[in-house]
Amino acid sequence: MSYKNFPMVPRVIFGRGSFNQLSEILAPKRSGINAPFIYLVDDVFKGNPWLTSRIPLAYEDRIIFVSTEKEPTTTQVDALVEDIILTTKALPSGILGIGGGSVLDLAKAVSIMLTNEGEAKDYQGWDLVKNPAIYHVGIPTISGTGAEVSRTTVLIGPEKKLGMNSDFTPFDQVILDSELTKDVPTEQWFYTGMDCYIHCVESLTGTYLNTFSETYGNMALELCKEVFLDNNLSQIESQEKLMMASWHGGMSIAYSQVGVAHAMSYALAFLLGVKHGIGNCIVFDHLEEFYPEGVKVFKAMKQKHNIVLPQGICADLTDADFDKMITITLNLEPLWENALGKSWKSIITPQKLKELYQKM
Ligand code: NAD
Ligand code: ZN
Repeated sequence: MSYKNFPMVPRVIFGRGSFNQLSEILAPKRSGINAPFIYLVDDVFKGNPWLTSRIPLAYEDRIIFVSTEKEPTTTQVDALVEDIILTTKALPSGILGIGGGSVLDLAKAVSIMLTNEGEAKDYQGWDLVKNPAIYHVGIPTISGTGAEVSRTTVLIGPEKKLGMNSDFTPFDQVILDSELTKDVPTEQWFYTGMDCYIHCVESLTGTYLNTFSETYGNMALELCKEVFLDNNLSQIESQEKLMMASWHGGMSIAYSQVGVAHAMSYALAFLLGVKHGIGNCIVFDHLEEFYPEGVKVFKAMKQKHNIVLPQGICADLTDADFDKMITITLNLEPLWENALGKSWKSIITPQKLKELYQKM
């Protein structure tokens, strides 16, 4: 038996207002006046001086605002890398991502592709990245995905939605400033927060579970319940706890895996462009049979926050569409094996998947 040897985020700062320390964190990392820091920032912050005026731009540093209307794609990463190479005189000193899972993943992928040849799609998979990425920093502005701590960057490519899982993917530095999450709209707060909750349920009930994953998963699950079920936290406490739930939820899946909801929602994202948080919720709502306790609590949380999920998103799909989704989801073998064990193929058949998708 050989155990996996995981890299972790080596530096993290936690605290309300810690974003103000960015300049002192970056100063020793600047490799020259021609080597800028490039900030990828969710365009929801465009024209928001509360955030942007605190980004410490010097020399050739610049901000690139990115839309998160769609999930990040491999071609988007390639275009950003090309733009950065064409417009900077030297390899950047660092890439910073300020935003949710989408922007954090873009920052990770861009920092990898600046030092690795070819196209981003060539690196979707496990341990395909050859060279260390350039210095990269993650600054989450919404909590739940665990992208700030994970060893992957999930991208939609020409053939699949799949992460670049590698030892070079985790951030070199993360800044956890819960104040940055203060203006997240309630529905999005719920969807992205539920991504964390679902990570916990899928990890804790999975066959890959070990004590490392279990302890992180239990901590994150407790925090999610405090935030989404019990109603006795101040806004600040709630924002701070969800930020730590996201972190621990991400740590929990390092050694385990996600499960049925993620496997099925990846296919919805690929075919229909349904985004991760809401997609997971739409799927998870129908998974009582696999996660009876988890789904019961999820429904209570949904009700508590008056969340109404979209219905009938698969109503107009053709048989060919269903086949495509089923192929994509069944290709995610580690997720199914984690969820259902070694003989998962006898439990989750194409027909069974089609019936489930038809309910959504
Ligand atoms: P997101 O990054 O797409 O952001 C969701 C929405 O929230 C966007 O409209 C964004 O503009 C808005 N937003 C973000 N911060 C805000 C703020 N402070 N105020 C107001 N609005 C704000 O969503 P997400 O759920 O964080 O991330 C989803 C992505 O993360 C997916 O692409 C998914 O594949 C990826 N993901 C990655 C990992 C990983 O380990 N790398 C894990 C889970 C999910
Ligand atoms: Zn997720």
